[in-house]
Amino acid sequence: MNSLLLTGGRVIDPANRLDSTADVLILNGKIATVGPDAMKQAPPHIEKLDASGLVVCPGLIDLHVHLREPGQTAKETIATGTAAAARGGFTSVVCMPNTSPAIDNAGTVALILDRAKRDGVVNVFISGAITKNIAGEELAPIGGLKRAGVVAITDDGHCVQNNELMRRACEYAKMFDLTVMDHCQDYSLVTEGVMHEGRWSTSLGLQGWPAAGEEMIVARNILMAELTGARVHCQHLSAAGSVDLIRAARKRGVPISGEACPHHFTLTDSAIAGSEKFWAEDGKPLLSLNPQLSNVSPPSWPAYDTNFKMNPPLRSVRDREAILEGLVDGTIEILCSDHAPHCNFEKEVEFDYAPFGITGLENEFALALMQLYHSKRLSLADVLAKYTVAPAKLLNLAKGTLSVGADADLTVFDPDREWVFERTDTASKSHNNPFYGWPLKGRAIATIVGGKKVWAEQPEPVSV
Ligand SMILES: [Zn+2]
Repeated sequence: MNSLLLTGGRVIDPANRLDSTADVLILNGKIATVGPDAMKQAPPHIEKLDASGLVVCPGLIDLHVHLREPGQTAKETIATGTAAAARGGFTSVVCMPNTSPAIDNAGTVALILDRAKRDGVVNVFISGAITKNIAGEELAPIGGLKRAGVVAITDDGHCVQNNELMRRACEYAKMFDLTVMDHCQDYSLVTEGVMHEGRWSTSLGLQGWPAAGEEMIVARNILMAELTGARVHCQHLSAAGSVDLIRAARKRGVPISGEACPHHFTLTDSAIAGSEKFWAEDGKPLLSLNPQLSNVSPPSWPAYDTNFKMNPPLRSVRDREAILEGLVDGTIEILCSDHAPHCNFEKEVEFDYAPFGITGLENEFALALMQLYHSKRLSLADVLAKYTVAPAKLLNLAKGTLSVGADADLTVFDPDREWVFERTDTASKSHNNPFYGWPLKGRAIATIVGGKKVWAEQPEPVSV
């Protein structure tokens, strides 16, 4: 049961600095052997997966996902969200607490763990709220949340504005060995901003969300990490100044970290002026780096398309470059999607009124490979580390490695597979994604959780 032999793949396990052709034997849901002995030790009649020409790596982890259950199941459920994760090559996700009710109490944690066991296709880890009802006024019971099983705390979607309250949250988190993750947004600077404050917000007549609105809270979080010794992790970084602040703080040993989402290091604010404007200027480097994009007519979309509205917003070329630089020099250790499903009717309104957020689980890996690996900015192992060992380490998850005895969570993928991401090509309940119609490069072929194939491009394996 839950046993599998993967043969002939290029096995990349950043946690063990392994990158070579090898067989992987999974027995009873655990990694039994990696290397030349795997074949010899495999019992007869074991199910086999021919991975030749493919990469085999520890199952990808996305530590920033909105599953919307309980309370917003018209947008997504644990069943559909984890099915989308599996299609994208992810074996573990961390869900955000801005559900209804919020994950600010042990009962909601228990409910989600129960549903995830019943409906989940991949592992679901839970982040709890920092404050009651994510209202930013009174601390949630952080010790109780930890006992109930949360792996981190965050008010994601919101940001604790009161610095004294944030200090107490950090002190409790340190006491309970939890990471504090923060959606960095200074409300007094951002006010009603809906897109990056700059040239395009002016010409489109939309209210700006200045980069300083993020940088202010990143700076605050560095001071909090320094003051309390707690691990503080800045979510979905979008601004150049944030990267500079974190780089300098990490150099002097502050326990601060950051994550980046593919939309922030692929697109810019000019995309909100429509595809023509984007491809004429900021999109040009994408076309030259990705011949498959320029071989066909590049994807098109209208101005004010609400699928380009997210929080924090798409920023300038300079910011996009700074995020890429931060990923390359290791300042930003973690990649994730901020998968944020919304119903069509919610997004089909004027730009000002649409909710922030886009889905991402099924296309984020390809975009990360295109912008980081195919562009020759990073090695494949370095990209994979940001989706495996780094998030596992940040949150103390016993995941992200192919060490003998580890849970047999694996992703099998083809880094060179070219495909077009179609609107019909999703397991998510929602379709708020700006990348439909995009030719992408790199795709998961099989997703294995606890030794069980939960998604595969070719459903019928070869049995011997
Ligand atoms: Zn957020």
